[in-house]
Amino acid sequence: MIYDVIIIGGGVTGCCIARTLSKYDLKICLLEKEAEIASGTTKANSGVIHAGYASPREYVKRHLCIKGNKLYTQAAEELNFPFERIGSFVVALEDNQIKQLEDDRKKGIEDGIPGLEVILDKNQIKQMEPNLTDEVVGVLHAPSAGLASPYELTFALAENAVMNGVKFFRNHEVVKIKHQDYTFTVRTYQGEFQGRNLINAAGLYAARISNMLGLDYFSIMPRKGEYILFDRNAIQLNKILFPIPTKVSKGILVCPTLHGNTFIGPNAQNITDREDISTTTAGLKEILEGGMKLVPNIPARSSIRNFAGLRAVPDTYDFIIDNTDVYGFINVAGILSPGLTATFAIAEKVIEFLELLGLELKVKEDYNPVRPKPERFKDFTKEELDKKIQEDPAWARIICRCETIPEKEIINAIHASVGANTIDGIKFRCRPGMGRCQGGFCRPRVIEILSRELNKPYEEITKRGEDTNVLVVKTKDLILKDVLRGASE
Ligand SMILES: Cc1cc2nc3c(=O)[nH]c(=O)nc-3n(C[C@H](O)[C@H](O)[C@H](O)COP(=O)(O)OP(=O)(O)OC[C@H]3O[C@@H](n4cnc5c(N)ncnc54)[C@H](O)[C@@H]3O)c2cc1C
Repeated sequence: MIYDVIIIGGGVTGCCIARTLSKYDLKICLLEKEAEIASGTTKANSGVIHAGYASPREYVKRHLCIKGNKLYTQAAEELNFPFERIGSFVVALEDNQIKQLEDDRKKGIEDGIPGLEVILDKNQIKQMEPNLTDEVVGVLHAPSAGLASPYELTFALAENAVMNGVKFFRNHEVVKIKHQDYTFTVRTYQGEFQGRNLINAAGLYAARISNMLGLDYFSIMPRKGEYILFDRNAIQLNKILFPIPTKVSKGILVCPTLHGNTFIGPNAQNITDREDISTTTAGLKEILEGGMKLVPNIPARSSIRNFAGLRAVPDTYDFIIDNTDVYGFINVAGILSPGLTATFAIAEKVIEFLELLGLELKVKEDYNPVRPKPERFKDFTKEELDKKIQEDPAWARIICRCETIPEKEIINAIHASVGANTIDGIKFRCRPGMGRCQGGFCRPRVIEILSRELNKPYEEITKRGEDTNVLVVKTKDLILKDVLRGASE
């Protein structure tokens, strides 16, 4: 079969393009090298849906961010992923920083960002955000800023794309591409795929994919950002809090999550290893100090996890969304922050490029943009829950006690389209392992359920794909082997 469009990369960018294209009568597939989608940059970021005042006007990313922010309202209604516009503050701690807030407000309003205001009344500020430092002298308030769960959004996009006919192939790393007679032949270790148009949304590896077609007009540098996550209800924040930005980043923010936690981070370190998501003592110290400048009573002892994400920073510092010299090949590369915010606008831009290439975009009669909300134990009333438990007792078997996740949610996550097939896949879809014990209690049960539902032995269940097996061999087998060896000697 020859696909109309092949997408490389199952992060938020690739999945959003897949879902947006699934509206049209086209044959589409997506190739992802990892065992799960949302395994790259999309997995670990701040999840802020930025208002869009932060990037300079000459950057494409500013305009796609402003547009993308607005597109979230409809997308959240259709796709049922966690999203809330809680608003953000950029916090000035010195009088001479107020001018920058005023400049950002003025330009932002001119560019169509709704509701931007500079607030200088300390009482008003503290009423809106009681945990903010007393040192505050003013804030830029952006009510349109919000929070989304990046991976839950990505799963929703993928599920809706599948509902509308897109094929997903995980564990399919693209290793070679040939272009001949207006057809791309894309080679993976699992087989070849042919397509008329090819979209490169490979994140940190986008330059490598582009090089496979002889294009080397950009490079991508990994830039690490570390985070500290605090326990649920350790502190209650109303707003996303940013410091005055630096030249390289928006600075270390203090931010609530949609699941009731709080995090601080990220810092910004240029590195060379595209897989290095380790955290360092120095980095964690840096973000703790940075966070405490905004919220001095950060509950440092309530930290439950440190983690890091990698930005794909292009040499242009701007998104690279190009119809390239290779006919039918579109680069969607260098999607650094605010790529999550801009994602729906990025997908629309890609559609414009495909139209320019002459692809016929006929809307399908049976296109359905709605991905039903996953059923959650915590959302049921007592009566609803009683009914569910009568229908299926797996609703009553709580596997993750920290987050109150029953077995049934895990089973549903496994059997969803593009469903979970690893421990992390379960964790990011329905949260076992996200709570205070970080999986200490529930992980063996999650392995057991994955093994049963996927019909695989325990030893083949991995944390996040190849070479991340958790259980290596049955202890009893080892003992038995020793006994048998002893008997034969
Ligand atoms: C620390 C940090 C904080 C951020 N905060 C925000 C924020 O608050 N708001 C915001 O809007 N944005 C934020 N961002 C940016 C946002 O996370 C990214 O823009 C977005 O996740 C990029 O998604 P992507 O799909 O382009 O890349 P990825 O998620 O990296 O996806 C690329 C995919 O391609 C796959 N792939 C690579 N090579 C191959 C191959 N050869 N074959 C097949 N598949 C391949 C990878 O496995 C990966 O799954 C932040 C980023 C970081 C790192």
